[in-house]
Amino acid sequence: MGSTPNQIPTRDQAYYFLDGSCVIQVQDHLFRVHRSLLERDSSFFQTVFSLPQATSVAEGRGGGEEGDAIVALEGHSDGHPIICQDSVDDFRALCWALYARPKDIIAQQKWLTVDIPRLIRIISMTHKYEYEHFEDWSWETLDAHSTTNADQFIPRCGGWVHVQKLLILCYQSGRLPFAQRLENEWLNIIRTSDASESRIAFDAALDAAEGSSYLRRFHGKAYYAYLKGIRIFQQGPVMSIANSDGYVDLGGPSTFNEPRRIHLCQGFWSLARLRSKLYTAPKIDDNPSCNKHTKECKRGWEAWWNEASKSASNDPGEFIQGMVSKLSGNSSMTYKNKDGARSAQVPCSNQLKEGVRQMAKIFDDSIPDHFLIPRD
Ligand SMILES: [Zn+2]
Repeated sequence: MGSTPNQIPTRDQAYYFLDGSCVIQVQDHLFRVHRSLLERDSSFFQTVFSLPQATSVAEGRGGGEEGDAIVALEGHSDGHPIICQDSVDDFRALCWALYARPKDIIAQQKWLTVDIPRLIRIISMTHKYEYEHFEDWSWETLDAHSTTNADQFIPRCGGWVHVQKLLILCYQSGRLPFAQRLENEWLNIIRTSDASESRIAFDAALDAAEGSSYLRRFHGKAYYAYLKGIRIFQQGPVMSIANSDGYVDLGGPSTFNEPRRIHLCQGFWSLARLRSKLYTAPKIDDNPSCNKHTKECKRGWEAWWNEASKSASNDPGEFIQGMVSKLSGNSSMTYKNKDGARSAQVPCSNQLKEGVRQMAKIFDDSIPDHFLIPRD
C-alpha cells in the first residue's frame, strides 16, 4: 500500500482534472477532483475540510481494521496530496459516482448494462466516507437487480471477493433481506454446481464466514450445503451379501486444512446421529386437558410418524421438512386403527403439527452447532 518516497505517482487518466481543486493520492495514483463535489454529500469530507490543515489525522467509518487514515491534509498540489488508504479501483468507482452523467446513471437501472462490481465498490466507499445519498441509491439499485435476477446475480458480481464484500456490507448496513437472498443463492451454488465450481464457492464462503462475526448461521449452512452437494446423504446402491465395505469419502477432505476438516467430519457425524434418532417417533408432551391423550394421541402419533417416515430422506433436514410438508395446509394427522381398515384423526393433531413445525425451525437454527461453529 502507499507509494514509496522515490516512486513518482501517476495521474489518473479519467479523474485528474486540471481545473480540479483537490489532489488525492491513492496508492501510486493521483486524482484531482473538485472539492465542492467531494464534500457536498459527504459528512466525512465536510468534517475533514473543516479541520485545521496539515495537523489533523482522521479515519473513515469502519476503516479501523485496514488502518484507513487520511494524513497530511493538504490536497493543493501533486506534491502535497491528501492521502487515502483505498484501492485505486475503489477510489475510481467513487469518482465515477461523483461525476456520472444521466445516461450513466440510467444504464445502472438496467440489467443488461449495470456494472455490478462497480456498484459494490461504490457502496463500500460511500459507506466508508459517509455519502448517505449515494449509498442509498447504490443499495436500492443493487437490491432491485438481486430481487428480479436472483439466480444470475452472483455470476455478475465479478468474482467471489466482491460477493464476500457485499455480504458483509449488507450486515453492516442492516440490509438483512438482501443478505438472506445473497446467502441463499450462494448456498445454492455450493449445493448444485459441478464439483470444482461448488468447491470454489464453498471455500469462498468459509473464507468470508471465518473472518466475520455476522456470518455464524451462514457458516454452518455452507458446510451443510457442501455435504448435500457431494450427495453424502443419498442411499447409493444396495450392498451385496458378504460385502460390507462401506467406505465413505467426504469429497477429498484431505485437501481441507485441519480445522475445516474437523468441522466437516463433526457435522456429518452429528447429522447422521440425529437422522438415526428420527427413526423413533419423538416423545410428545402430556396434555391434561385431553382425555384421549394416553391412548389415542400417543399411539396415533407414533403410528403416523412411523408411516410417514417410511420413505423419508436420509438427510435429517429434508426428513423433518418432509414431515412438515405432509402436514401442510389442511392435511390432518391420521393413523390406521389396529384392524388397518379405518383411518382415525389424532385428537391433538393441531398441537402436534405445531410441534413438527417447531422441530424444523430448531433444526434450522442449530445447523452451526452440528458443525461446531464457535459462538462469539
Ligand atoms: Zn391428546
